Amino acid sequence: MSKRIGVLASEQAVHRREEAVARREKALRAQEEAAMSKAELIAHNQAQLREANEHLVVATVRAQMMTEVAEQATLRMSYMAKHDFLTGLPNRSLLTDRLTQSMALAQRHGKKVALLYLDLDHFKHINDSLGHAVGDQLLQSAAKRLQACVRLSDTVCRQGGDEFVVLLAEVQTVQDAHLAAKKLIKAMAEPYYIGSHRLHVTPSIGISLYPDHGQDVETVVKNADIAMYHAKRSGRNTYQVFAPEMNVRAVMRHSVHQALHHALEQHLFLLHYQPKVNLETGAMTGAEALVRLRQADHRLVGPTDFMSIAENSGLILPIGQWVLREACRQTAAWLQAGLDIGLIAVNVSMVEFRDKNFIAGVRAILNDTGLDPRHLELELTESSLMQDTETTTAVLCALKDLGVRLAIDDFGTGYSSLSYLRRFPINTLKIDQSFVQDIDGDTGEAVLISAIIAMGKSLKLGIVAEGIETGPQFAFLQSQHCAEGQGYYFSRPVAAEAFATLLATGPHQQAMAF
Ligand code: C2E
Ligand code: MG
Ligand code: MG
Repeated sequence: MSKRIGVLASEQAVHRREEAVARREKALRAQEEAAMSKAELIAHNQAQLREANEHLVVATVRAQMMTEVAEQATLRMSYMAKHDFLTGLPNRSLLTDRLTQSMALAQRHGKKVALLYLDLDHFKHINDSLGHAVGDQLLQSAAKRLQACVRLSDTVCRQGGDEFVVLLAEVQTVQDAHLAAKKLIKAMAEPYYIGSHRLHVTPSIGISLYPDHGQDVETVVKNADIAMYHAKRSGRNTYQVFAPEMNVRAVMRHSVHQALHHALEQHLFLLHYQPKVNLETGAMTGAEALVRLRQADHRLVGPTDFMSIAENSGLILPIGQWVLREACRQTAAWLQAGLDIGLIAVNVSMVEFRDKNFIAGVRAILNDTGLDPRHLELELTESSLMQDTETTTAVLCALKDLGVRLAIDDFGTGYSSLSYLRRFPINTLKIDQSFVQDIDGDTGEAVLISAIIAMGKSLKLGIVAEGIETGPQFAFLQSQHCAEGQGYYFSRPVAAEAFATLLATGPHQQAMAF
């Protein structure tokens, strides 16, 4: 029994020990587990921290980049606000800043500032005939040339279109501005090679000085612009320095421009007709239509008083369309009434001839008025033909295809190239009246006329002498076998009703000399 009790006791003791071991193991495991999740937690926390840190770095970098982008965009925007996108030159706004600064400095140093306002002659024709891409490249090349001509302290800016301004920051006298203008004209004279084109473009430059011609930015710029307009009027490819009397003419230019607008709206244009005569027989061969403007007091204003303003403002396009339509309408009406007018000649200015809608306009007018194209002769000037001869040839051929005749007006005053004269499909040369009027003197014009007549004959062109005023002029032209003539000697240009009478009865008294 005591043995049995002893065994039981030791079994219990073993059991207790085992239980104690199990408890300790459990506690140890719990401890281990606790220890493990703490490490994991730390690792987890560290990973989160790292991630957050990375996010922070990325965000900081992003923020930095965005600031830089924003700064660049701001810089770019302020650059663009002050520069021209096509040429990269300073624009009108930056010019104003620089001119203001230069004027303040010049005043302090007792010097002058010169402003050269430059416009490319007939640039529109290049744009119209060769397209904007060529025009843009030409502007970029012109901008580079201008910049190469001036000092670093000077500013070349693009005012817009084909207008540039050169600001000479410190000049001593007006002579410095003259020299700069001459240098610019010379630099621009070199041909431009753009794609397959060899282009010539000349500038007209107006100069105004601070403080001589204006005390503030606006006046200095305005006066340089006015002087530029005068450079254009005095033949282009030249420069003019501002003079106060130019202002008066600028006002006139403005009012003529308004008058032309008004005349178009109110139908105040009218045509006069001057007969052309066969110098051998005295028969009337046709007439030239010449535009006039009727003023409020019924006085008539001739084209020499408004044509250049009409051309420079582009108003010549609607005016020219009206002239052509009216001349064709009237001629068709005369023909229908049995009055054989022969040819009606209509003047076409260079701006019209270079306009891309010109051919379509002529075609539409012929269609609308029903005039047989063989009765229409278009008078073009040498200067419109000799520019961009490739386009000229294409336009002339298209007109020829319409069936109209083509004449070169004021022949001898421009620079026709003989080879082109042969190549262009021209029918008639009109000898400029300045030659005819000098026949009586001994300036050698008579020899020149004989030469032109001989040349015209060899090229199989009709010849018309313009501006015949006297018997001796008429006699000389007859002796040279000049085919046709036109001038006060036969008849002045007259209104349509008077011309209808002429058509019915033959030209003026003087023609009795035949
Ligand atoms: P043009 O085409 O050479 O026209 C001849 C000009 O000489 C006309 O002047 C005419 O009146 C004038 N004339 C004619 N015979 C004589 C004469 O014996 N002696 C003198 N001293 N002059 C004579 P007008 O009408 O003043 O026209 C001047 C120019 O204006 C024209 O020269 C022409 O280039 C332009 N023109 C006239 N009408 C138009 C038109 O409808 N469209 C365009 N684009 N130009 C026109
Ligand atoms: Mg004419
Ligand atoms: Mg003429």
